[in-house]
Amino acid sequence: MKVGIVGVGAVGATTAYALVMRGVGQEIVLLDPDKNRVQGEAEDISHAVPFAHSARISAGDYPDLVGSHVVIIAAGTARKPEESRLELLSRNAGIFRDIVPQIIQYAPEAVLLVATNPVDIMTHIAADAAAEHGIPSCRVIGSGTTLDTARFRALLGQHLGIDPHNAHGYVLGEHGDSEVIAWSLVTVGGIPVDEFARQVGIPFDEQVKKDIDQRVRFAGKAIIQGKGHTNYGIGSALVRIAEGILRDQRVLLTVCTPARDVAGVPNVTVSLPHLVGAKGILDTILLPLTLNKSEEQALHNSAEIVKEAYESLK
Ligand code: NAD
Repeated sequence: MKVGIVGVGAVGATTAYALVMRGVGQEIVLLDPDKNRVQGEAEDISHAVPFAHSARISAGDYPDLVGSHVVIIAAGTARKPEESRLELLSRNAGIFRDIVPQIIQYAPEAVLLVATNPVDIMTHIAADAAAEHGIPSCRVIGSGTTLDTARFRALLGQHLGIDPHNAHGYVLGEHGDSEVIAWSLVTVGGIPVDEFARQVGIPFDEQVKKDIDQRVRFAGKAIIQGKGHTNYGIGSALVRIAEGILRDQRVLLTVCTPARDVAGVPNVTVSLPHLVGAKGILDTILLPLTLNKSEEQALHNSAEIVKEAYESLK
């Protein structure tokens, strides 16, 4: 299975490394306008292969994407401290209008997996460009809140003293400040989280929830203030999504793709739980029926914010 990565800065390079470490993809092609850097990344990552999984890593150009099953797009510019994701919009939109048609020209069968921020809008832009070439939107996936959901599960695990794999919950909506933590759906091993915390005697009141909410919502900003960019969490999230596609796993992930309606907002791209497999998005789990009223309202507001930003481009 072949994976292309377009944009090999901190996120793209870490994703390539994580693919090798996890054994996802046998051939990995890296593309970036900075030819020296991308050649160096390809060589360096290929030296990790003897310690990990077998894979061929190379630097290339668009024609080298031929035969790719997944093309990950991490091209663009990283968010600066104090800069909102939405402020990145116009810079990265221009880059996408250039690169998406080139990817489709050489890898028309690939699933496009978008990481570039603001990821919800960039995914919508990529889907628009793909549609002009007859590619259905189910084959254009944004990482959306996959990373935020992982951050949420990690913090739940830390607080409750459990393996985060046992903490199930979703962060929905925008990958950004308006995202929605669906507390009403959180379970630990199938047990509602409040009940689990009560049984094991760990405080889990509104203040704890508020604290976890803030640490999830502003995790990206905090990390960027500390080290200048984020790469390990997003790289791992992208590999998890790519794995779901390449191995046709039918895995439930909070990715984003254009939706006809999200909580009353038409034609918008924000994260909901989706089934992900070989053909991309196989199904969307519509949550408004299961969310409580305030969560549904928050999801509506989040979708409105993304929709307005997308419309502002026109
Ligand atoms: P970076 O600046 O380190 O790398 C960006 C790379 O894109 C550079 O190597 C640059 O040469 C390349 N690039 C620029 N124009 C290009 C073009 N036309 N074609 C191909 N490549 C091009 O940035 P980064 O830290 O790797 O972040 C990349 C993107 O990922 C940013 O938009 C960032 O905000 C986003 N990001 C998303 C998430 C998420 O959860 N979705 C998390 C972290 C970062």
